[in-house]
Parts: sequence; structure tokens; C-alpha cells
Amino acid sequence: MDTPGRAWLWRSWRMMTPTITRWAVPSVHDPALALTGRDGPVLATPNLRVHALPLGVSNAYLVESAQGVILVDAGLPLCEEIILARLAALGRNDLQLIVITHAHVDHYGSAAAVRRATGAAIAVHHADAADMAAGRTRLGSIRAWGWTQPTLPLMEPLLRVEPTDADLLLNEGPLPGALGLDARIVHLPGHTPGSCALLVEGQYAFIGDLISTNGAAHVQRSYAQDWRQVAASVEKLRGCRPAQSFPGHGPAGLTGATLAKLALDGPARRAACQNMA
Ligand SMILES: [Zn+2]
Ligand SMILES: [Zn+2]
Repeated sequence: MDTPGRAWLWRSWRMMTPTITRWAVPSVHDPALALTGRDGPVLATPNLRVHALPLGVSNAYLVESAQGVILVDAGLPLCEEIILARLAALGRNDLQLIVITHAHVDHYGSAAAVRRATGAAIAVHHADAADMAAGRTRLGSIRAWGWTQPTLPLMEPLLRVEPTDADLLLNEGPLPGALGLDARIVHLPGHTPGSCALLVEGQYAFIGDLISTNGAAHVQRSYAQDWRQVAASVEKLRGCRPAQSFPGHGPAGLTGATLAKLALDGPARRAACQNMA
């Protein structure tokens, strides 16, 4: 377990990150799409409510149905108290499933702690399960230099990444145990081999790190294990025509119209052009 000093330093870094990001990369989004600074759900339909959990560096989401709650991603280590506090504030003690969009520590870091506290099962695509079980984060090629890149190596020794076994291995297709929701896994490899979106009611997509809304909405341009697959996965997601997408990073959601016209960027664009040549 982390010592109090280590945990304090780590939490401080995590809390500072969104403030510095907001200062360095001002939001350019419609306030109606904001994921932060909202008390209520960011989406409510007759079948479900979605709550955004900005967890410092990355976002997680709670998807409530009448039959239970699904957590999409679980943030860095030591985010479990934020997740559990939100569940308590919603009066829900029936978290059933934790869907991890991909095996990077900023998405599965607190999953094991949340599982211990709630009994919820952890699900990840089978292609990313071994990395998560080993507590690994494979970043692939690094192309961009945001402020986290120079500071993260300084903070990494403070991190204790818990190796996290999945209870459920996911494949493309219907999500098992979807609590009465029409929920599908859409395999979107590239950022990692097992990157996935969770598509709910055919309209709402939780897209992990394929697209970020830090600054202007943009396709992944920093980390990938296969840039050609990133380009293909953007096309695949567009083909699903989600009305609204919820990213793993960034202060805002993404409309279907923005997704439809989003240009490929940087290494993904170069890889797509090479593919066509
Ligand atoms: Zn990632
Ligand atoms: Zn991420």
C-alpha cells in the first residue's frame, strides 16, 4: 500500500494536472457538452443516466440503469474514493460492472480497488487483458510533448500500479450483463490492441483514447501501437454514427456532427495516406 506522503504527492500532482491543462489548452467547446462542473447527469434518457467523473488526468463515467450501474474506466491509482463517493451520492450500491476501454494505467488504475469495495466485475477486451493483469502500460510511439510527458517520469516512482485480472474478457458484440441496456463493444484497435468503445442504446459511445477533447477535438496523436489501425478505427466509429461520444480525456463530449467531420491528424493521417498509396 502507498505511504501517506507518497499518496499525498501523487494526489496533488493529479489534482494540479487539470488546472494546468485548462490554463495551457483552453476549452473551445459548447458549454452544453461540458463534462466538468456539472452536478447532475451529462446525459439522461428514459433508460439511462450518464455521470461524468473527471478524475484529474482522465475521465471515467457512471452509466445508471434501473437494474444497476456500469463504470466505464476507473482513472489512475488512488481515484477509488472519488468514484465510491459519487456512487454513494447517487444512492447506488449496485455497481455491477467495470468496463475498461483499454489497458493504460490512467484508465484501469483504480479498478481493482473499486472491485474490492463493490464486488463489481472488471471487463476488458481480451487483447489488452495480459497487460492489465501484469500492471503494464504500453504506450507505443510517443509523438507529442504535453506537460505530462516531462513530469510523469518524476511521478511514476510514486505510483503503485496494481496488477488487475479481468473477470470478463470482451469481444466485439453485445456486452454481457448489460443491465437491461442495449450495449455493445466496438473493437477500435490502434492506441492499444484491445482498445474498445462501449456503445449504449446505439447512440452513446464511450470511446477511451481514440479521440480527445483537450483543446479542439482531435484524433489520438500522441500514443499508439499501430497508427494505421487508429485511422481505421476512427472510420469504424464514424460508421456507428453515435449521436454523442464521451472521451477518456478532455472537458467536453463530442457530437455526431463533430465526429463526422473530424480530420485525421499527425501520425494517424500519415499512416492512412501510406495505406492508400
Ligand atoms: Zn490510453
Ligand atoms: Zn488515457
